[in-house]
Amino acid sequence: MNKTAQSERLHIAFIGKRNVGKSSLMNKFIGQDLAIVSEIPGTTTDPVKKAIELLPFGPVVLIDTAGIDDIGELGEKRISKTIQIITEADFALIVLDSQVKLSEEERSLITHLKTLELPFLCVINKSDLGINYELIEELDSLGLKHHSVSCITNESIYDLKEKVIKMLPESEDPPLVGDLIKQHDIIVLVVPIDLGAPKGRLIMPQVQTIRESLDEDAIVLVVKDKELRAALSKLSEQPKLVVTDSQAIMRVAADVPDEIPLTTFSILMARYKGDLPQYVKGLKRIEELNNNDKVLIAEACSHHAQEDDIGKVKIPRWLRLYTKKNLEIDIRNGHDFPENLADYKLIIHCGGCMLTRKAMQARIKQAKLMGVPIVNYGVAISYMHGAVPRALLPFGEAITAWEENK
Ligand code: SF4
Repeated sequence: MNKTAQSERLHIAFIGKRNVGKSSLMNKFIGQDLAIVSEIPGTTTDPVKKAIELLPFGPVVLIDTAGIDDIGELGEKRISKTIQIITEADFALIVLDSQVKLSEEERSLITHLKTLELPFLCVINKSDLGINYELIEELDSLGLKHHSVSCITNESIYDLKEKVIKMLPESEDPPLVGDLIKQHDIIVLVVPIDLGAPKGRLIMPQVQTIRESLDEDAIVLVVKDKELRAALSKLSEQPKLVVTDSQAIMRVAADVPDEIPLTTFSILMARYKGDLPQYVKGLKRIEELNNNDKVLIAEACSHHAQEDDIGKVKIPRWLRLYTKKNLEIDIRNGHDFPENLADYKLIIHCGGCMLTRKAMQARIKQAKLMGVPIVNYGVAISYMHGAVPRALLPFGEAITAWEENK
């Protein structure tokens, strides 16, 4: 079984009006009946996601969405969910009914995807019922690529998959740590095992950093914060980099000599998923906060909150202590990222390890468009604990942004 995390897979969205066969088509890709198929329009209410191996390409996530012509108040909510999925997808299949010409909704969907620069393919479904050639002419006149299939007879489904694989964008994810180390370098990873640590496992940024370091043929040493000093004293060569959990940054900084580069897993994630220079610029806003200013704390997943939870308890406490201001703090989880950010003076976002890079970038873009500074947990925590600029020193572009803040 391929265990590639959903957040590391390309996301392909199946979009279109109700009853054009989006769910049937997605099931053809999966090879089983996961998405509910029905003749009744509007059967898919919430997006249905399925992680599959699209061979020979590799791991992807397929997303079946509600119809773009859904009706009523609930329908509007489903449409806005579909629009959110589109923003986060890497590729889209616009599923069309072979019998009819393009509708208004489909035309605006096409315009929307073009504006987002999201690559897509129009799939003309129900070819077994015949094809309205005016539809083909329309698509051709708009310069759109299209492919006809039948989910009933399976006509051209195989060719469609081949075509989609050829059109999928190359991954442009920057390295997490691979560009900071090389073969035989020593990298020390500090992983506190405290009450906040999940039982019996490491968290995704830690696992990914280990894996990428091993891919670079580096020597990886993983220690708890309490053992760091002993570990460093046993090394005959200085490590090339020390990476720590953000919450232990000050304890770790005290144990790591200044000449050894030091950063945090969260800052690595800021670069990998987000926009590190942008987050560093966002730090300036912490200094400008006033009483009653509204701050958004956003977490990309809905994990069970702990007693001293980082997002719900610690960051609000540190922020109020640091700024000495009476702030209004709004905490949102999972997909509940507000559409309207205009009321907020600052956004503090988690590392976003469960989001795709595309989805995290979409949130940053939304914040930028609304002129709201954004930072992530790691950058903000290091800053409020006095570990900036030290924790940023391994990253030239972050230091430039830091200098520009002055
Ligand atoms: S809150 Fe954010 S960083 Fe933490 S596990 Fe969830 S997605 Fe990852």
